[in-house]
Amino acid sequence: ILVAGAGGLGSPILMQVASMGVGFIRVIDRDIVDISNLQRQHLYGVNVIGIPKVEAAKSRLIELNPFIEVDPVPLPITPKNAISLIQNVDLVIDALDAMAPRYALNRACQKLNIPFIYGGVIMQNGNTSTIIPGETACLECFQGGIKDEDLPSCAVQGVHPSVINLIGSIQTSEAVKILLGEEPVLKNKLLFADLTDLSIEIINLSKNEDCPVCGSCNSPLNIEFSTWEEICGREGGRTFIYNPEINEKLNLDKLNENIRKIGYNLVISSEMGTTFQSKGITGSIINSGVAIFEGLTGLEEAKKLKKQILG
Ligand SMILES: [Zn+2]
Repeated sequence: ILVAGAGGLGSPILMQVASMGVGFIRVIDRDIVDISNLQRQHLYGVNVIGIPKVEAAKSRLIELNPFIEVDPVPLPITPKNAISLIQNVDLVIDALDAMAPRYALNRACQKLNIPFIYGGVIMQNGNTSTIIPGETACLECFQGGIKDEDLPSCAVQGVHPSVINLIGSIQTSEAVKILLGEEPVLKNKLLFADLTDLSIEIINLSKNEDCPVCGSCNSPLNIEFSTWEEICGREGGRTFIYNPEINEKLNLDKLNENIRKIGYNLVISSEMGTTFQSKGITGSIINSGVAIFEGLTGLEEAKKLKKQILG
């Protein structure tokens, strides 16, 4: 199976499917473990801060169950690479925190006829639905056309670990049903849970005949994707992330040498990535090419720093 996202939702989903013995788990996430993640991302402890999430996730999952195969992919999910990322899996579980990569996966799953278990959480709310191509409504039948910049983000609004574990567990239960050949419960249904009053509602969905993805209107909205992206800063300064669409297979030893040469201290270096620091700037680079720089004044500075590191 594929679990897209190794953060809040990814944590309970990955730990459950690994412990239950799902034999092949591809896990995709472009991020690095940050101290602010630990409140809700229970796959990780303080010892892996600064390490790529997929690398830390793999070692934790293999600890839980050494008999499974985990395929860590430290890349963003984009309209261009989604099809290749979902090759050879029986189902895709959505544990993402943004709509654009979800739409990319929804479309790829529709094309390759792969079940897609949608899940989303914010504050104390969560919702989930099980999408079976050709049978049920697709994600864009009932939640199409949403722009990420119009949504509240977890970095700003926060998200309660309890609702993450609730929704992630329901997604896992649906996944196991599909893998065992049983009927998933949330086909054409959207479950909505709100922990503020502990209300749980199930709304019936139906396929939108004019859906731009699975219906008759054959012109899906463009999914926005940019190689450089500014994300919510964690503490002061601005944070930029570089998103390669394919694995650039960088040589980390050479990068570490360059990082030291330009005056940064290595904080932690692992098989797949390096985190470094100096003068109020924290940077991470993953061997896939993903780069995250915090504490900068602008995009030009981020581009310059990346160039210096790559040499
Ligand atoms: Zn649709």
